[in-house]
Amino acid sequence: MTRAETTRFAPSPSGRLHLGHALAALTAHDLARRSSGRFLLRIEDIDTARCRAEFEAGILEDLAWLGLVWDGLPLRQSGEMTRYRAALAGLAARGLVYPCFCTRGDIAAELARMPSAPQGMEGPRYPGTCRQLGAAERARRVGAGEPHALRLDIVACLDALGGSRLAFEETGRGPGGECGPIAVEPHASGDIVLARKDLGVSYHLAVVLDDHAQGVTLVTRGEDLFAATHVQRLLQAVLDLAVPRYHHHRLVCDAGGRRLAKRDRDATLAALREAGVTPGAIRVRLGLAADAHCG
Ligand code: GLU
Repeated sequence: MTRAETTRFAPSPSGRLHLGHALAALTAHDLARRSSGRFLLRIEDIDTARCRAEFEAGILEDLAWLGLVWDGLPLRQSGEMTRYRAALAGLAARGLVYPCFCTRGDIAAELARMPSAPQGMEGPRYPGTCRQLGAAERARRVGAGEPHALRLDIVACLDALGGSRLAFEETGRGPGGECGPIAVEPHASGDIVLARKDLGVSYHLAVVLDDHAQGVTLVTRGEDLFAATHVQRLLQAVLDLAVPRYHHHRLVCDAGGRRLAKRDRDATLAALREAGVTPGAIRVRLGLAADAHCG
């Protein structure tokens, strides 16, 4: 008997949904319904400068048009900042984050100066400039009100975990077609930002806390987030959170082979709907089974 899965669709309301989002939403929905589980909706709107109420309304409209009904109320991340800040304070108290005063320009210049820039899964990673700062200098600059982000100290996290090896269970496919247990590469993304200078929290932190809080058992999302899964698994370990399984799915590309993005207005669900395309035709185009209930 398959176990009942709790999945989620977690869009950011910073634009209209396109075919790539439809694949993510339908995958999450179908895997939940086929297992007689729960399909949840989470609105990832912590970036208030980019997110807009009209896009959130568009998401609800597009999901309804696709015929997707979620369980319970959607969780809106902008209403959860207190919870995120408490977790961040806990990590800070354990010495697992450090303030980073670097601008993007500082980081690019530092990487350019290095004879061999440290590489992560997706290219050069943060060179660790502010990890080297002494406690007194950190305190002085923070005290002086210098703008700073908070970065996860991966080395300190690994120390805190006492050398235990981490893995996550992939049920979809990683970029190399992997399935099964995948060993975590803790440095996949380097010392990621956990609290942005402008927002006070980052995507990675909010996502792991919410996957736990919502009882998500199977995280379904595009394979572009495969590297993120490595560091999120590490965060789950240091925060002592439940560990979901993962199902990374392929990305939807345009005719030129490029991953769909907000610029591809013709591929928005709103545009396709207006052009007379039906939800059934969207499923066919995405290579999904027509009937989500008999998998
Ligand atoms: N909000 C993210 C996005 O729209 C998805 C995050 C996730 O699935 O973990 O790409």
